[in-house]
Amino acid sequence: MFLKPILSVLYLVTTICFSSVTSLSKHPILIVVSFDAFRYNFFTTETLPYMNLYRTKGTYAEYLTNVFPTKTFPNHHSIATGVYPEVHGVIGNSYYDSTLKKIVKISPEMYNYSEAVIPIWRWNEDQGDGRVSASFMWPGGDFTYQGKNITYSVTFQNGFDWKKRVDQTIKWILDPEKPANLIMLYFEEPDTHGHAFGPNSVIIKDLLAKLDNITGYLHQQLELNNLSDKVNVIQVSDHGMTAVTPPHFINITQYLKNGTYEWAGASPAIQIIPHGGFEDSIYTALKNASKQNGHFTVYAKSEYLDRWHYKNNPRSPPILVMAEQGYALDDLIISAPQYAKKYNFTLTNQSEFGVHGYDYIVDEMHPYFMAIGPRIKQQTKVDPFSTIDLFNLFCGILEIMPTKNNGTTKAADMVLANTSGKYSLGTILMMSVGGVLVALLLVSLAIVFTLIAIKRQQSITTTAALNKRFPQTFQNYIEAQHLLEPEDA
Ligand SMILES: [Zn+2]
Repeated sequence: MFLKPILSVLYLVTTICFSSVTSLSKHPILIVVSFDAFRYNFFTTETLPYMNLYRTKGTYAEYLTNVFPTKTFPNHHSIATGVYPEVHGVIGNSYYDSTLKKIVKISPEMYNYSEAVIPIWRWNEDQGDGRVSASFMWPGGDFTYQGKNITYSVTFQNGFDWKKRVDQTIKWILDPEKPANLIMLYFEEPDTHGHAFGPNSVIIKDLLAKLDNITGYLHQQLELNNLSDKVNVIQVSDHGMTAVTPPHFINITQYLKNGTYEWAGASPAIQIIPHGGFEDSIYTALKNASKQNGHFTVYAKSEYLDRWHYKNNPRSPPILVMAEQGYALDDLIISAPQYAKKYNFTLTNQSEFGVHGYDYIVDEMHPYFMAIGPRIKQQTKVDPFSTIDLFNLFCGILEIMPTKNNGTTKAADMVLANTSGKYSLGTILMMSVGGVLVALLLVSLAIVFTLIAIKRQQSITTTAALNKRFPQTFQNYIEAQHLLEPEDA
């Protein structure tokens, strides 16, 4: 007499559980959004209603510290890997390869420096069990690591429609065959126009308002698809930006003899690679010029600051010339008139250009951080932390053990919900494993009781009648077992 209600409840629970599994990843879901060059204090200078709404509903830090040099590719890859540029090898947006005698720009060659460095998107999929990663234009996201591509990736296309990026993100999450549980979503603004017009321009103010709108659009789409309480969203940037005018452009190559060196990188940090035999003379010439000018510093490789974590890599240049904040070097002397031509404005001494790449302790280089979702604390402001710590936070949200990295658990301890600052990332992961074991035990008990119930029912009814009554239950169970098998096994 109690059989029918018991089986009805089991059917209902099974259907609810397994129907969600078939449309969404069974793993925690995380979207990491990067707005390139979105400076931390745009929150105080601009009206950003959507971003302010979601950052105060979730968790935010006033700013983050990033890595040296505060350029796009080194910083995005440190966010993605939790290791410093000297470890992942992306030491600049470009570097000079002394062996191949060429400048290396963004390419698999640049990103495949070490097999031991594993970006979060690769690491997520490597854990198997149906975990699926996606990259929408994230720098380096479309390259192979350990010889493998991730399931979904879109290569960078400047100016690609922003709403379509968000729409594709939602589609990946809802994919009926391979639902993504990690999406790296990149926007190249306000960096692209910031370089040409400076971070204080009306054009940048307009772009910041549009980035605020796209944040609103992302959350509206999550809500429309009933995903707001299932998806964690972290928004971050790689660096800020400062304004520089032409009177602050410094021509350093005038102090060097043509044909005695190579150079790579861009303002404010230019890499100098002297040809054999010219090391000392070039270093001395630049040092003397630096004393005269007073607005740039010259470092030999042995003088690179330890806290930069930039020195211990063969790609790091023998000499680095670093302009003081608010100053730029030769490359901007070349590119300023090119910007004026491309964007059709008159170049004057008052024209402002955007520059980043200075030491990460420079205030205007600081990125922002905000996060919201089921694994994130609500209405919480946390202390600033290093972008190096983001990798462990990602792993904490995704409930995977981090691979070896340079970060700490500071961000994970502060940002993850239900930790109350008491538990480390390791504890969270242990609890997650414990939770899975308990869930497995409950499912096993449910199956045993179901089978016992069926056996008893068979004495009073036929199998055909039972299948008619619960046609989907066992099919769902079989499908779910299939989904539980690791895809990468
Ligand atoms: Zn950038």
